[in-house]
Amino acid sequence: MANIERLRRFIQDMTRAVEKSGADEPAMLREGKKLLAGLIARDDWLPEEFALSHPDTYRQYLLYCDPLERFSVVSFVWGPGQTTPVHDHTVWGLVGVLRGAEKCEEFERAGENQPMRKTGEHRIEPGSIDAVSPALGDIHTVSNALADRPSISIHVYGANIGAVKRHVYVRETGEIKPFVSGYSNSVLPNLWDRSAEVRAG
Ligand code: FE
Repeated sequence: MANIERLRRFIQDMTRAVEKSGADEPAMLREGKKLLAGLIARDDWLPEEFALSHPDTYRQYLLYCDPLERFSVVSFVWGPGQTTPVHDHTVWGLVGVLRGAEKCEEFERAGENQPMRKTGEHRIEPGSIDAVSPALGDIHTVSNALADRPSISIHVYGANIGAVKRHVYVRETGEIKPFVSGYSNSVLPNLWDRSAEVRAG
């Protein structure tokens, strides 16, 4: 059974962190990184229905959104060969790999009608964390680095990311298109059934 307490504690800690440091992006990213590293250090808490891949495209399952939309937590599940479009975020984001491995490629705009310029590429392994934001570099793709099984990463963003107006970029031409990512699920994990521990206590 999923150890949902781990996710509940993470969300409680993230809520305290945005209250304290939400207006200070570098501090927020420092604290968020530490907390996300703690969450992904163990792979025993993500309920199975939020870990399912889809044969056609990657899935993005909302695990939690702060009531004031100051942050959101999403599990991304990539099947073999699946990849995001080239996209930006417009808010800070943290990406930690829980299962498998992922390939990140960074891009920048090269000018009107110019192909996107690739500025880097790296692999994220389980336990390691990437940060994005308009201040750090905000345009990338993320793909499953494994050819034979799904990979899963946990993303934390400084907004309700499924409701943010952002952009995808046509790699070959640099064309910018409006993008709102949405979510694959309509029901969220139940963090709040603590009855077993209360009965036992
Ligand atoms: Fe991204």
